[in-house]
Amino acid sequence: MSTLQHYIRDIKDFPKPGILFKDITPLLQDAEAINICLKALVSLVGNQSIDKVVGMESRGFFFGTLLAQSLNAGFVPARKAGKLPFHKLSQTYRLEYGENTLEIHKDAITKGDRVLIHDDVLATGGTAEAVCNLVKQLGGQIVQCNFIMQLTSLNGKDKLKHHTVKSVLNY
Ligand code: AMP
Repeated sequence: MSTLQHYIRDIKDFPKPGILFKDITPLLQDAEAINICLKALVSLVGNQSIDKVVGMESRGFFFGTLLAQSLNAGFVPARKAGKLPFHKLSQTYRLEYGENTLEIHKDAITKGDRVLIHDDVLATGGTAEAVCNLVKQLGGQIVQCNFIMQLTSLNGKDKLKHHTVKSVLNY
């Protein structure tokens, strides 16, 4: 996975002073890096069956849809407030920087669906926790929360302690 690390660019003080932003756009620009990353994410799931992959807006959409296709599952976007057009559930939570609200369509998860939660970065865990809550309210069974990378010093795993948390890279 050391190869993959070369494609993650650190941007100091973005979007606020004190934040070291992990930029995945170099990874997205390279076909081989996409393949390596996707294979690694799929292998985190192993042979567990998945009905839906839920990806967080917006950087969870890139590999979320690729994961869904690889796992023969559907893809569900968890979107920022006001973006989804149909009946939805909302959850507001704190971020490493600021506050956010995510929404999910009520008909996106069927009771008993086996769900993989995916995002690019696990930081404080608030985003993933909020999405887990939305999925659980709709009766989904969370199989795994999976990330390209975890910022381990921010202890995001603690907020997800009832779930299996996996990532390709740890910082
Ligand atoms: P958190 O809720 O604190 O775990 O933050 C996770 C969400 O914020 C993810 O959607 C990430 O894309 C984004 N995020 C948080 N911290 C960073 C960071 N240092 N670099 C890049 N993205 C981040």
